[in-house]
Amino acid sequence: MTLSFSQLSLSPSLERAVAEMGYENMTPIQAQAIPVVLQGRDVMGAAQTGTGKTAAFTLPLLQRMMKHDNTSTSPARHPVRALVLLPTRELADQVAEQVKLYAKYTNLRSTVVFGGMDMKPQTAELKKGVEVLVATPGRLLDHIEAKNCVLNQVEYVVLDEADRMLDIGFLPDLQRILSFLPKQRTTLLFSATFSTEIKRLANSYLQDPVTIEVARSNATASTVEQHFYRVEDDDKRGVLKQILRERGLKQAFVFVNSKLGCARLARSLEREGLNTTALHGDKSQDERLKALEAFKSGAVDLLVCTDVAARGLDIKDVPAVFNFDIPFNAEDYVHRIGRTGRAGASGLAVSFVSGRDTRLMGDLEKLLGKKLELEALELEADKRPAGHFNDGQRAWQQPETAREERDIRESRGSRGSRPEREARAPSSRPVRAPRAPADPLFDKPYEPSLAAEATPSWEAAQKPASRLSPNIKTRKKVPALFKSAPVAPVTPVTDNS
Ligand code: AMP
Repeated sequence: MTLSFSQLSLSPSLERAVAEMGYENMTPIQAQAIPVVLQGRDVMGAAQTGTGKTAAFTLPLLQRMMKHDNTSTSPARHPVRALVLLPTRELADQVAEQVKLYAKYTNLRSTVVFGGMDMKPQTAELKKGVEVLVATPGRLLDHIEAKNCVLNQVEYVVLDEADRMLDIGFLPDLQRILSFLPKQRTTLLFSATFSTEIKRLANSYLQDPVTIEVARSNATASTVEQHFYRVEDDDKRGVLKQILRERGLKQAFVFVNSKLGCARLARSLEREGLNTTALHGDKSQDERLKALEAFKSGAVDLLVCTDVAARGLDIKDVPAVFNFDIPFNAEDYVHRIGRTGRAGASGLAVSFVSGRDTRLMGDLEKLLGKKLELEALELEADKRPAGHFNDGQRAWQQPETAREERDIRESRGSRGSRPEREARAPSSRPVRAPRAPADPLFDKPYEPSLAAEATPSWEAAQKPASRLSPNIKTRKKVPALFKSAPVAPVTPVTDNS
C-alpha cells in the first residue's frame, strides 16, 4: 500500500519543501518510520542505502521541532535540539544538505561539522545557534572540548550508518558524545546490518525501540540488473569502455580495491580521453568534495573510487556501477551497487571477475544466498583477433583450470604473449552473443539531470584525446639527436615571410 506525504499532516512549511522535491508517496522506510518517530518512540532501523531513510528521520524530527521554530536572532533561542552522527565527511555533508532542503521554509537552523576542514568557520556557525547539528564523531568531540557547542538541550539523536561507525572504531567517541546528552531523549539508530555489536549498542542507548526492517540486510535492490563477466586484468579497461559505449551510458561509478589502483586507473582512463576523476582516502577533503561535486553536476563522466565512496552517497540517476575489482569484503558489494537503482530507478551493476577471485566470489555467493553465474562477453572484433572471447565459465568452481592458468603464467614469468593467450582460449566453444539488456531503460540513451547535452567521453575517446587533466604530465620530448632512427637528409628551408 502506498502512503502519500499528505496523509502525515506535516506543517505547511515542511509539506512545501517535500512538494518542491517532487515527492508524493513515501518510500517503505518512510511510511514505517515517520509515524513512529512522530510519536516520539526510539527506532532501530535496517534499511538499504537509497531507500529514502534520510527523509525518514529528518522530516519527523523537524516536525517535532516546529514548536521551537522562532525568528529570534539570539543564539540562545537556537540551541542544538537534534544531533545526527555519521561515519564519514561525505555522508555528513550529504545529510546536512538534505536537512537544509527540508527545513528550507522553517526558521530551524542546521549546520554540519566534520574533520579535515578548518574549525573556525564551523565554530562561527555553531556560535550563531543551530537546532540541527550533523557531525562526524571525532570533530564533534573537538568542538565539545573547545566549548563551541552545548548539547544539554538535545532532544533527538540519530546514529546513522551505525555499523560503519563501529567498523571504523568510533564506539569510544560515540559513548563519550552520548554521555554529554540528556537521558530523556529520542534515539534513532540506522544500520545496514544488525550485528551483535549493533544490538549491544542499541540495548545500551535505546529505550524500548520499534524495530523497522524494510529489506533483508545484505539484499541487493531488485531494480539493479547485475552481471558478472570473466575478464583478464589487462582487458578490464577495454571491456569497461566497450560496455559504456554499447549501453550508451553517460555516467558510472568504477570501484577498485586500492588507493593506488584507483589513482592509476583514473589517470589511464583520463589519458585515453575519458572524462574521469578519482575519489580515494589519500585525497584531501577539499579534493574529495570537489570530485564528488564534479560528478554530481555532470562535469565528470566516470568516478573511479575506492570503498570510501561506497556507503550511502546519494548521487541521483547514476545509471551504472562497475566493480573493476571484486571487493575484498563481500558486504561492500551490496553498498557499491547501492549507488545505482536508487529510490526505485533501474540501474546496472557490472562486475569483472578474474581467475584470482575464486574466494571472493564464494564469499559473495554466501552473502547474497544465490549462485552467481559468469556470463559470456564477446570482446570487440576490431580490438581483438577473431575468436577471442570469454566463455563465461564459473572460474571459482574450476580450481584445476585456474591453477593451470596460473602455473602457465608463473612458468613464463608473465601473463604470456598474445599468441600464447590465444592458444589457451577454448577455441572449440561457440561464441555467444552478448545478452540483450533486460531493462527497456537501457534501450534508450540515459539522460542525466544536468549536462544533458554532453557527449559521453568514451564516444569522443574514439578520436585521440584533445583534453588532458592538469594531473597528467605530458611526456618529455626526446631530442631528435638521441633517437636511433636514421636522420633524414637536411633540405634547405626557404623563409617566405
Ligand atoms: P537516502 O536513502 O536518504 O539517501 O535517499 C535516497 C534518494 O531517494 C535521495 O535522492 C532522496 O532524495 C530520494 N527520496 C527520498 N524520499 C523519496 C520519496 N518519497 N520519493 C522519491 N524519492 C525519494
